[in-house]
Amino acid sequence: MNVETADMNTELMVDGNAIAGELEQIFGHDMTMAVARCAGCAADSMMATLMAFVRGPGAVLRCPSCTSVIARIVETPTATYLDARGMLYLRMTHAS
Ligand SMILES: [Zn+2]
Repeated sequence: MNVETADMNTELMVDGNAIAGELEQIFGHDMTMAVARCAGCAADSMMATLMAFVRGPGAVLRCPSCTSVIARIVETPTATYLDARGMLYLRMTHAS
């Protein structure tokens, strides 16, 4: 099975809102409005609008423009792993 496409089952696709709770646990506040820049195509997307695949071992977030993997989140009994190598940066605007 191709590892890069194994989670591209669109029937299992939701959006970034589905993992808002996990993101809030990691970052300490609501991340749905944070903007991630895709390392693949440089598109800016709010976390809430990313393609999310949550039925695998952990959650996978993909760019809605080019479908590159932007981030992976894996929960184990002892730790949370955040693999964010697919984003150039994450922009969190300060609350005013
Ligand atoms: Zn992209």
